[in-house]
Amino acid sequence: MFEKVLIANRGEIALRIHRACREMGIKTVAIHSTADANAMHVKLADEAVCIGPATARDSYLNKAAIISAAIMTGADAIHPGYGFLSENAEFAEMVRAHGITFIGPEPEMIRLMGDKISAKKAAVEAGLPVIPGSDGEIKTSADAVTFANRIGYPVIVKATAGGGGKGMKVAHSESELVEAFELARKEAQNAFGNPAVYLEKYLQTPRHIEIQVLADNYGNIVHLGERDCSLQRNHQKILEETPSPALNPEQREQIGSVVVQAMKKLGYTNVGTVEFLYENGQFYFLEMNTRIQVEHPITEAVTGIDIVRDQIRISSGSVLGYRQEDIRFNGCAMDCRINAENPDTFLPQAGTIGQWHTPGGLDVRVDSEMYAGYTVPPYYDSLIAKLIVHGRTRNGVLMRLRRSLEEFVIEGIPTTIPVHQRIISNPEFIDGQYNIHWLENFLKKDKQNL
Ligand code: ADP
Repeated sequence: MFEKVLIANRGEIALRIHRACREMGIKTVAIHSTADANAMHVKLADEAVCIGPATARDSYLNKAAIISAAIMTGADAIHPGYGFLSENAEFAEMVRAHGITFIGPEPEMIRLMGDKISAKKAAVEAGLPVIPGSDGEIKTSADAVTFANRIGYPVIVKATAGGGGKGMKVAHSESELVEAFELARKEAQNAFGNPAVYLEKYLQTPRHIEIQVLADNYGNIVHLGERDCSLQRNHQKILEETPSPALNPEQREQIGSVVVQAMKKLGYTNVGTVEFLYENGQFYFLEMNTRIQVEHPITEAVTGIDIVRDQIRISSGSVLGYRQEDIRFNGCAMDCRINAENPDTFLPQAGTIGQWHTPGGLDVRVDSEMYAGYTVPPYYDSLIAKLIVHGRTRNGVLMRLRRSLEEFVIEGIPTTIPVHQRIISNPEFIDGQYNIHWLENFLKKDKQNL
């Protein structure tokens, strides 16, 4: 097992990783920018190294500074968390070249899944169902039109290097497509330095359902069921739940085993999430995230498995230690992402926290780095807390979530708690009747009623 892990991240996930290491008797090294010197995980870690100024490019994305910090402190592994360098194959290779373990899959796997065209090809070869679309890059708008006529409108133009919803444009007709094609290429060039785009059929009422996998280095692979992440705003997840209200246990087992077989074929190791769009009983592969995800705690709540702990164990060469048939899914869980944002405009807002009181009680978990008197810096993602609630029934979870949101006190900065309160009291949401467009429509209607 590792003796010392460097946590190459910030915010709640840095604390989450610190907690897992602590419970495993592993020493931790925090790295931080000048803006994060007062962060909770920096105070709790055994050692802390300031690696640069506030701008992420100069600190949390500064590969050389992070690896130097690991060498200086004698860390034997680096946990990248999510975001930042977590899906950067070059960083994973550099870490490895310095004799340090990168807590994640092989760099080749990160690279394969990081490009949407190669990921989709790999998914097809591994037997996963994909969204009908072009086999590879589409180079001209004329080719795009020919292809769209073959598969039918609406279509979506997507950047092969895409991420965070950038370089994606929907088209309902030939004239829209010509415009969307040029726009998407430009956006992709600006955001990723790579203008390549491809075409897919645009699904109109899908849900976003993803499958969590865990795989050791010896061919032992399990899935931990699904998460329904259909509640999105600007392609950003807001509230996630498991199990999905749209799946029954047989469907879960079926898609789970398809994913496990595919991961075996690919030779995938470590933690990963395979994301699908789900419409009319069909799953369509969207992408694979080769890292721990923000919403992983709801899966931990229903399975009782500490995913970060097992990720660290697997990375150090340990055997997974359990099989698919050992995994039980108990009850339901939901996660509310609480952001430091104006709840009406969603504009991020930095500031100093006054009172800070988190809800508690049975089956209530809050993952957050915040405390009273802490100043939220303006430079990073606005996520300040995740409220994770577990219960035996979905109804019980909704009741518990309602009282937990009521108990949560955050003074000094605006938060999205009121948005969550409105979502969970909506009858359609209570019925589980939603798809990936539901939240944006709900917010529009909600605004008109205010
Ligand atoms: P990114 O990597 O930029 O997040 P994804 O491929 O994961 O892009 O897609 C993000 C979101 O965009 C999905 O969750 C879904 O809401 C929407 N989307 C992507 N492809 C399609 C499609 N073919 N049809 C309908 N919606 C899509």
